[in-house]
Amino acid sequence: FIDPFRLCLLQALDARKHGAEIRTYCEVIDFEVNDKDEIKGVVFYNRVSGATESVKTQVVVNAAGPWAHKVAKSADDKLPIRLNKGAHVIFDRRIVNVGVTVKAIDGRWIYLFPHENTTLLGTTALDTWEDPDTLVASFDEIEYLLQSMETVLPSIREARIIRTMTGVRPLVPEWKVPEGKVTRGYQIVDHGENGGKKGLLSFLGGKLVTCRHMAEAVTDLVGTKLGKEVACTTHEQPLPGNEDDVDIIALSKEYDISLHALERMRARRGTEMVKVLELTKEHPEWKTTICTCEPIIEAEIRVAIREEFPQTLNDLRRRIRLGTGPCQGTFCTYKAAAILAEELDLPGDDFLVDILDFRAERWKGIRQSMRGEQLAQEELAQGMYCCVGNLDQSDVDYDLKPWEEGC
Ligand SMILES: Cc1cc2nc3c(=O)[nH]c(=O)nc-3n(C[C@H](O)[C@H](O)[C@H](O)COP(=O)(O)OP(=O)(O)OC[C@H]3O[C@@H](n4cnc5c(N)ncnc54)[C@H](O)[C@@H]3O)c2cc1C
Repeated sequence: FIDPFRLCLLQALDARKHGAEIRTYCEVIDFEVNDKDEIKGVVFYNRVSGATESVKTQVVVNAAGPWAHKVAKSADDKLPIRLNKGAHVIFDRRIVNVGVTVKAIDGRWIYLFPHENTTLLGTTALDTWEDPDTLVASFDEIEYLLQSMETVLPSIREARIIRTMTGVRPLVPEWKVPEGKVTRGYQIVDHGENGGKKGLLSFLGGKLVTCRHMAEAVTDLVGTKLGKEVACTTHEQPLPGNEDDVDIIALSKEYDISLHALERMRARRGTEMVKVLELTKEHPEWKTTICTCEPIIEAEIRVAIREEFPQTLNDLRRRIRLGTGPCQGTFCTYKAAAILAEELDLPGDDFLVDILDFRAERWKGIRQSMRGEQLAQEELAQGMYCCVGNLDQSDVDYDLKPWEEGC
């Protein structure tokens, strides 16, 4: 199973190594277009600084997934798309060590797969017209998945569900076709060739497993449009950290860090884990485990903050799986927030708001899946945050962020 967040990050880090500038938290809101309908620039809203900025460009690749039609709309172009909701149920540990597939009540294939330190049960597939930002798994989706897997794994309901995860597939808009028959292939829509803005290219469809191929195809097309006929070679290049294997047994002895922690670190960083280990020579105290579920040591959090451009705890979750294990951040959030605040020099109120944001984001996936032992776990989490951390009583002097004004 791929770690989708890590794959995305490694591609960004690799691009940066080759001269790209990575701008997170920048939302495309408009395009600069000349009187020949040619794209000349992109206008974006910087959610961190609150400033509206722009860059000059002749070609734009719209890879906004289930928001791609909205980006096209801001260029006054149409992009028909078929949005398809999918949900996963996540268990607290590896309840299987092999993949299990089974046909669901409607004849669709569903699966149960070990993923990192957890297990994923998925997935549903439903046409949706809702806002992808607010979608959560429904009770029906959870029951559909459990009931189907129960036919081959009767004890599945005894396992602890820690949360659900919901996403939206940006499918090619095939009409009068049942969802399961819609292609999972991809298209690159050249708006200029279809009476729209010249220089705007939009992705429809595709899969995570084909994303590198998709990126190559569009890079070659951009090259052609810019008059640079050099074929993309990324399929021949390993992503950062994947150049070689790592002997974690030797490293465990050399740095006196547990094999388990190093095994997980290797999965995330490969050869690049040496940067984390070198930091522990300077600061042996940063060998402390911060997230015990994963596990993640303090030095890795510091390297992630310094090199992988996180702004928030939620970003750290996506970078290194902080808070994604069985305790869902009950024990690591405060500690990680303090490290983030120190590294980014954040004021105290931002520190508290970040913790609240992190909990709110986790809660979106936890709320509807709570049952059995997970109820007790949530009681514990609430006790930690409200009684020990006093988070519900904290007097947070919170200034609205620019994009929240008027909400
Ligand atoms: C439940 C589920 C299960 C799946 N399982 C698999 C699988 O097993 N194997 C597989 O290969 N694929 C799988 N997929 C498909 C795969 O995950 C999707 O195809 C993929 O996530 C879509 O990638 P994307 O980059 O197009 O869109 P996204 O990953 O959604 O990324 C779009 C990005 O655009 C950004 N964005 C949106 N609007 C703007 C804007 N105005 N300005 C700037 N940025 C913007 C968003 O913030 C987001 O980061 C699954 C999908 C789902 C939903």
